Amino acid sequence: MQQGEKVSEEITSGIPVCKAEFIFYAQSRATSSRPVKLLDEYACDFRRSDWEHRWTEWNAHHNPYLNLFLCGDHARKLGLIE
Ligand SMILES: [Zn+2]
Repeated sequence: MQQGEKVSEEITSGIPVCKAEFIFYAQSRATSSRPVKLLDEYACDFRRSDWEHRWTEWNAHHNPYLNLFLCGDHARKLGLIE
């Protein structure tokens, strides 16, 4: 299982880091299960340099171990939550 990066490690970039609020597990669309609320502090995956790749992989169910860590705003923009 892949882990998101801790928020504290990304502060140097100068870009405001959004905090992940949900985990979207790799199989969540197939099983239509709800995203899981995050209890630990992780940066939103949307800010990662390899985001495009992660999103493509996740969307296509290519990697059963790839979970997305997203803040509410980005999850909404991506259509993952209402
Ligand atoms: Zn975000």
